[in-house]
Amino acid sequence: MKTIQNETIEKLKTNVKGHVVLPNDPSYNEVREIWNAMIDRKPAVIVQCGEADDVSRAITFARENGLEISVRGGGHNIAGNAVCDRGVMIDLSPMTNVRIDAQKQRAYVEPGATLADFDRAAQVYGLATPVGINSTTGIAGLTLGGGFGWLTRKYGMTIDNLVSAEVIAADGNKIRTSETENTDLFWALRGGGGNFGVVTEFEFALHPVGTEILAGLIVFPFSQAKQVLTQYRKFADSAPEELNVWVVLRKAPPLPFLAETVYGKEVIVLAVFYVGDIVEGEKLIEPLRGFGDAYGEHIGVQPYVQWQQAFDPLLTRGARNYWKSHNFIELRDGALDAIVESASKLPSPQCEIFIGFIAGAANRIPADATAYYHRDAKFVLNVHGRWDDATQDQIGIVWAREFFQVSAPYASAGAYVNFMTEEEGERIAAAYGSNYDRLVQIKRRYDPENIFHLNQNIKP
Ligand code: FAD
Repeated sequence: MKTIQNETIEKLKTNVKGHVVLPNDPSYNEVREIWNAMIDRKPAVIVQCGEADDVSRAITFARENGLEISVRGGGHNIAGNAVCDRGVMIDLSPMTNVRIDAQKQRAYVEPGATLADFDRAAQVYGLATPVGINSTTGIAGLTLGGGFGWLTRKYGMTIDNLVSAEVIAADGNKIRTSETENTDLFWALRGGGGNFGVVTEFEFALHPVGTEILAGLIVFPFSQAKQVLTQYRKFADSAPEELNVWVVLRKAPPLPFLAETVYGKEVIVLAVFYVGDIVEGEKLIEPLRGFGDAYGEHIGVQPYVQWQQAFDPLLTRGARNYWKSHNFIELRDGALDAIVESASKLPSPQCEIFIGFIAGAANRIPADATAYYHRDAKFVLNVHGRWDDATQDQIGIVWAREFFQVSAPYASAGAYVNFMTEEEGERIAAAYGSNYDRLVQIKRRYDPENIFHLNQNIKP
């Protein structure tokens, strides 16, 4: 690494519209911190971008000074590649603007916007597109890896709703990309992560979902976990795409609709979401109540934005997090047994295993239509190890890895790049299946020197 001259830093400060943050600045520690407290890296320079051109300036600065580049959107990624040691962190978090064209049903979104920023703006017009289930997540990283949430069954992955993007390439130039412009790049961006450049604007298609949906939780005793899962599997087979139900196994948080005696006990939770005619939705969710003798439930009509934030209190930043994830085409008995067995040994009150249900529109898109490859996945299962104290790291990591191993024989091929930790580099090729070779070709064209390598890296 070259020593950076003071005048070089001063020139950068003068050139950028945003802020340059250095290790001796009072805000440095706060700005470099990301969601997963297991990641503690110290960039030499943080460029808090105020406009797209700041990204070009930061790239040029990094290249001229021989520094590595990391790119931060919402800072949520478990692998922590948003922040680097001794390099330049391109921090997009100040760029949060979301512009809605309600007539065209389009959103134009800056790369530092969170899902909350996005939903808030679109819902003014009763519009939405599928994004994730935790509103503090960044739209940028989520989209570039694929993106799924409550609306995915009906409207596909987040990338299936991406219409165009503006990208700053490795040479610092701005490129517009869509189905008709720079089409290879547009193909690669939809699932290929941050490998091809820095996206400075996303254009999304929006859907008229309205502002109110039917949603909530049903909490069953853990002793009924297997029977609930078995019935869930059958129910999921024929549930219409307007209805989504995810399953969470964890220790009960202090939810107001549960008796205090339930708090801290292992439970199995159905998280229910229905978009459409409410009376019809009520009818459709009724059978879920018969899966067991619930401890309690809280389901009702509520604002879409409220439900989009419902899990935020359990997913705040600052805890230590370690994930392992598999895709599933079907939930075989062995998988259900593995889930129940591991959930009976939760190593901390914050650990959980969840089954995300994504069957529907996303499965109807051919595997080679976008870089995101595993279009056959109907369920994405994530074991979420989470605790506060570094002394618990080993216990939590071992638990997550064990579950990953015992459930592997029942999983389908591949992986979801957005759920992969930093140590899972060997899964990258599998995540892209037969799309991998085309991604390598596109990487060679747009980033031959691999300056964007702090990501789930596709090597040129
Ligand atoms: P960052 O860490 O800022 O970015 C991740 C990576 O993306 C960066 O390292 C960089 O390589 C790249 N990147 C970011 N911005 C840009 C850009 N503008 N241009 C180029 N590259 C860029 N995913 C789902 O699909 N559905 C969910 O429901 C869901 N829930 C989640 C809940 C929690 C609590 C968390 C922590 C994550 C969840 N995720 C979910 C995973 C999420 O999609 C990924 O963590 C995603 O990478 C987060 O994006 P970010 O911008 O916040 O992250």
